[in-house]
Amino acid sequence: MSFEFSERVQRVEPSATLAISNKASELAAEGADVVDLSVGEPDFDTPESIKAAGKRAIDEGHTGYTPSNGVPELRQAIADRLAEDGLDYGPENVVVTPGGKQALFEVVQTLVDGVDGQSPSASGTSSRAGDEVVLLDPAWVSYEAMGKLAGGQLTRLDLSVHDFQLEPALEDLEKVLTDDTELLIVNSPSNPTGAVYSRTALEGLRDLAVEHDVTVISDEIYGEVTYDVDPTSVAALDGMAERTVTVSGFSKSYAMTGWRLGYFAAHEELVAQAGKVHSHSVSCAANFVQHAGVAALREVDEEIDEMVAAFRERRDLLVDLLAEEGVEVQVPHGAFYLMLPVEGNDQRWCEQVIGEAHVATVPGSAFGAPGYARISYANSQERIREAVQRLADGGFL
Ligand code: PMP
Ligand code: GLU
Repeated sequence: MSFEFSERVQRVEPSATLAISNKASELAAEGADVVDLSVGEPDFDTPESIKAAGKRAIDEGHTGYTPSNGVPELRQAIADRLAEDGLDYGPENVVVTPGGKQALFEVVQTLVDGVDGQSPSASGTSSRAGDEVVLLDPAWVSYEAMGKLAGGQLTRLDLSVHDFQLEPALEDLEKVLTDDTELLIVNSPSNPTGAVYSRTALEGLRDLAVEHDVTVISDEIYGEVTYDVDPTSVAALDGMAERTVTVSGFSKSYAMTGWRLGYFAAHEELVAQAGKVHSHSVSCAANFVQHAGVAALREVDEEIDEMVAAFRERRDLLVDLLAEEGVEVQVPHGAFYLMLPVEGNDQRWCEQVIGEAHVATVPGSAFGAPGYARISYANSQERIREAVQRLADGGFL
């Protein structure tokens, strides 16, 4: 038989980050000693108190469905956590999702239309485009796919010409944002660059978003992972509370990638609409996982500090080792990624490097940043040393 796949699904590629990570796992299964600096996943185990809370929740019978938007204790704990960043959300503003990715997906589905509310046709028979979604490049791979799956038109502003910073790019952003822009996605600290945008930069962005009545998704999933800087929450800026959807999750800060737990917080009207996508797609996040999430927010602090301290040491090590090889990079101030400038075609570079040196990295092109490879330094110092050594020995630096 032949399937007739939707035009919508054919518009997107599989996740490049997960594809490379799968390739690294395959090579490792064949017996290769692969240094995997591809996927963005903390190499720490989930803190004990979170695991204990998850097990206890199973034993106590928290195994059925929960209210679709999440158990009240967790939504309250999230609202309290966001209040520490100056955000004014109540539990009624929070939707708990299986991972931050699902939160983003639901919000994009809720805000972005294709042509005439439908998915645009590949033949381009309509002169009208879908809603405009603006990304700040380099941008995490899934934003593009989510925008396209919703039928939106992407406009991408390249920050790599400004050392990945937003402040010097505000004049460009002014040209890009118009009354036709529906949505702007901001991610600070950023995956893949590790940049943390200054308050001044985000205030500039705020002024433009207000002027053109643009909704902003602020993906703050790396908000706890910063070095020497205090990140600004977009919704905390004057005039932004109502037009911002704050997205975050437990994967990165609490080393909980496999638990699949995240959330978004927004104006109640948006919650009501996005809640429909949520209830029809996932029903709710896993019950006992939500209880573990309460423990994460209420009980865990020290472990986060330890993880962030370890990431900082690895960042410093990586930056130093690359400098010793004569490679200058933009020093990241958050998350656990670094953009390595590479010679020639970055996709070919990454393929060669994984094939010959068995070091896995992700091509910058996947993030809208050709000429770079993204390195995730969520790996041990020993493996980071090994990776740089292999890159140097193989003539890749
Ligand atoms: N946003 C960004 C920028 C990310 O890097 C990730 C990592 N996968 C996510 C959202 C979603 O993470 P998760 O679904 O594991 O919460
Ligand atoms: N966000 C991580 C990364 O960029 C995990 C993989 C993914 O979901 O894309 O590597």
